[in-house]
Amino acid sequence: MLYYSTNRDSEKVNFKEAAILGQAPDKGLYFPELVPKFTSDFLKNLKTKSKAEIAFEVILPYVGDVIPAVELKKICEHTVDFDIPLKQVNDSIFSLELFHGPTLAFKDVGARFMSSCLGYFSKDSSREVTVLVATSGDTGSAVAHGFLGVEGTRVIILYPSGKVSKLQELQLTTLGKNITALEVKGTFDNCQQMVKEAFADADLNKKLFLTSANSINVARWLPQQFYYCYALQQWPYTLPPVISVPSGNFGNICAGLMAAAAGLPVKHFIAACNQNDVFFKYLQTGQFLPKQSVATLSNAMDVGNPSNFVRIMELFHNSYEEISNAISAFSIDDKTTLETIERVYKTYGYILDPHGAVGYVALEKYLQTNPGLKGIFIETAHPVKFSNTVEQVIGHNLEIPESVQPLLSKQKSSLLIHPRFDELKQFLMENN
Ligand SMILES: *Cc1c(COP(=O)(O)O)cnc(C)c1O
Repeated sequence: MLYYSTNRDSEKVNFKEAAILGQAPDKGLYFPELVPKFTSDFLKNLKTKSKAEIAFEVILPYVGDVIPAVELKKICEHTVDFDIPLKQVNDSIFSLELFHGPTLAFKDVGARFMSSCLGYFSKDSSREVTVLVATSGDTGSAVAHGFLGVEGTRVIILYPSGKVSKLQELQLTTLGKNITALEVKGTFDNCQQMVKEAFADADLNKKLFLTSANSINVARWLPQQFYYCYALQQWPYTLPPVISVPSGNFGNICAGLMAAAAGLPVKHFIAACNQNDVFFKYLQTGQFLPKQSVATLSNAMDVGNPSNFVRIMELFHNSYEEISNAISAFSIDDKTTLETIERVYKTYGYILDPHGAVGYVALEKYLQTNPGLKGIFIETAHPVKFSNTVEQVIGHNLEIPESVQPLLSKQKSSLLIHPRFDELKQFLMENN
């Protein structure tokens, strides 16, 4: 499989090159030359296959021969070795729980796959790979856990001081080994800017082999197709589901659209957005107008210029009509998010996190006007990651999952720096 740049001003590359580069040199996003179709055997026997088998069959045509099949199988087994259950919430709505991985958010799937691939590729390179990642909370910990102990790699995380939750901070700062957390006295935007400057800095690129780990990387984006297959594997009806995806950068929903284009039976997609409503406005007006993001309770979706929109355009041949046939969108405010968490808990005993709540209520609204259908929303994070918000609404404390209990007694270890590129540069030049 070859990948071209959506800006069409870079050479085509294979999976290995695309994964190492992250973004194309012309600043476009890599997109596969064709969408491989699932075989009828794959679809017919979905229910009897293991999670790792499904992952392997889905990703094989995208990876091609740059990773030997035995290695790729091992990577797939490692990527999905936690539960991904589909739970029924009420008569017509199911929750695909993607928060049972090590960092309690769906990003574990893509981050684990990507880190294993880069770990494999770095084996035949004598240079250590330095992964630089700016995070507003979830991405940094998923990426760091993915790379923890992976030989030939080290991870430098930049996070905004005081702007991530307590649990998120412990997840970022207590790993040790090849992971370093830089606590930036600024905002997420500052962190992202510093990382961008590092990628553009000639001295740093001469001295270090820098790579990025955000969702534009094909090795993080494409494996997100796996769990749409697991959703269908557990779906009890013959009528295909409507699937609602809490969306920010639109990587997750775009992966679902790829799986559907490959033949996975999905009735319709819903882009569930918070007040950051650029895509919702696009469906209403036909115009895509990025804007500054606004802060909401579902902070992982606070994106004013969703980077994967270009991939959706690519998949649907730049056709507004095709896009609006396949996807509906809703923009949900914080008040509705809180009301939904409370109502769903009181009525059905199911605890939503703020992101899942946006997905749930968007699906509910769609089903109200499309009777006879049933659907799935993607629960992208464990409610405990946002315990301040959730506990206040449901009126009691959340149980902390066993897997994160040990974190609570650990000591945070981070290096405090100013939001200035020269401080980051000095750190990177002196510590390698
Ligand atoms: C990253 C994230 C999202 C948004 O996913 P995109 O692929 O950026 O659309 C939603 N929910 C949670 C909890 C996240 O961490």
